[in-house]
Amino acid sequence: MQKAFHILRKTSVEQRQQELKKLRQKLLEEKNTIINRLSQTCGKPKTDAALELIGTMDWGKWLEDHAHKFLKTKKAPTPITLLGKKSLISHEPLGVVLIIAPWNYPLHIGLTQIMTAFVCGNSVIYKPSEVSPMKGFYESLLEVSPLLSQSVEIQYGDGDLGKKLIDQKPNKIFFTGSTKTGIAISKQAAEHLIPVDLELGGKDAMVVFPGSNIQRAASAAVWGAFTHSGQSCSSVERLYVHKDIEKEMTQEIVKKTQDLLRDENKENSDLGSMSVGFQLEIVKEHLQDARFKGAKILTGGEVIDKDKLQYAPTVIQNTKPEMKVIGQETFGPVLPIISFSTEEEVVSLVNESEFGLQASVFSPDKDQAFRVAKALEVGGVSINNVNMVEGNPWLSFGGCKQSGTGRARGVEGLHAFTRSKYYLIDPNSKKIEANWYPYTQSKYNQFQKFIKALFVDSPLRLLKVALTGLKLESMSQKGRDE
Ligand code: NAD
Repeated sequence: MQKAFHILRKTSVEQRQQELKKLRQKLLEEKNTIINRLSQTCGKPKTDAALELIGTMDWGKWLEDHAHKFLKTKKAPTPITLLGKKSLISHEPLGVVLIIAPWNYPLHIGLTQIMTAFVCGNSVIYKPSEVSPMKGFYESLLEVSPLLSQSVEIQYGDGDLGKKLIDQKPNKIFFTGSTKTGIAISKQAAEHLIPVDLELGGKDAMVVFPGSNIQRAASAAVWGAFTHSGQSCSSVERLYVHKDIEKEMTQEIVKKTQDLLRDENKENSDLGSMSVGFQLEIVKEHLQDARFKGAKILTGGEVIDKDKLQYAPTVIQNTKPEMKVIGQETFGPVLPIISFSTEEEVVSLVNESEFGLQASVFSPDKDQAFRVAKALEVGGVSINNVNMVEGNPWLSFGGCKQSGTGRARGVEGLHAFTRSKYYLIDPNSKKIEANWYPYTQSKYNQFQKFIKALFVDSPLRLLKVALTGLKLESMSQKGRDE
């Protein structure tokens, strides 16, 4: 892939954007095939698959329209102390980057990262999850552009392959997956000082204050918890409802949950299945633990069809912090409802979690919503909406605490695939700089005056800096004191 990188780095961002345009056209042409493939591979309803495709294409279009502006070499300000010089910042590709992906959004996570890496000028080794490898799928999309397909190598395999790929010392690792694997990868990467961006698990909270539109908030909670059967890193896994509206909200949520339709392979199906057996087992285990510790199951709480990996969308109450459904990532269709009384209490409850990916806050009071959003220890907050930070390609996505360190998409996510480089440019002259040798007594005395001019507040500061600086410069041309 080093060879591919050396070819790629000779191309311009604009050329690479043209290749992404070809990919977008291919995605558009193949949209129904892609939706069906995603739906079959991951067990997601077709609308969930369509949403995954939209998000992927939307980011690709953003790169086509904007990447060149943010990858351009730009001027930086140069202070008066460096009069006559120029400063620049450029964004260089990293080289060969390794992208390791999970199984839940194979198109979105795979392609958004591949496209970003490529537009920045990196060659890519991409390792999809062994659970949803979609063999041949990425290759068939990338072949629309020879430059793209020769710049991306797809490697199929499990965690052991992942480890081997890290040992090949890529220039950076972009990992999306569980916190446990993220920690293991960080340790291994540290051996070679490979930088790592980590997009990890979550236990996202939604907070609803009185005065919010109950119908809207309840619909948001139900979609936020059950889209792709809760197998999204930013699923709503804890719903905090103010005690004054808890009864009404709970009734609406249960009703809306029971109204969800399961009609396999049909376009109007709301519900799909778990993507993989072990995830169904985790959901069962969390529910068993919750029941045992006294949780009340308001609806669901059972396997619908074991062979088809279908679990009923589940709403529960009377939870305790020590339950697995509250402390750990469930990654399944389970929505615990918890009541709260005050702003301070709910902020502290949300922040108790070791995870900090995303959150949502519903309130009719703009100040309250923003105050609470600011206080939450997470990477992004949707206000009066759910999971919508992801909907805007200008906003980066990521978390804090056990949810990871990196940022995907947005300008920050674009620059994550680059190494910034800084330039200080002097005109070609004969001058000896004041900080160069020889150090002399008279220059030292002048430096004392220069420090005062620079750092003592005065309306004449700039003039004093200029005068003392010029004197210093002229002294520096003279050599040693006589
Ligand atoms: P996982 O950690 O089990 O596996 C993710 C990837 O890492 C797979 O490709 C796997 O083969 C590979 N892998 C496993 N062990 C490895 C090792 N030691 N070295 C290198 N690679 C290794 O995660 P998963 O079960 O596939 O995905 C579910 C998790 O992903 C959930 O926790 C979910 O929240 C998280 N996720 C996070 C985001 C985000 O943006 N924050 C997005 C999607 C999913």
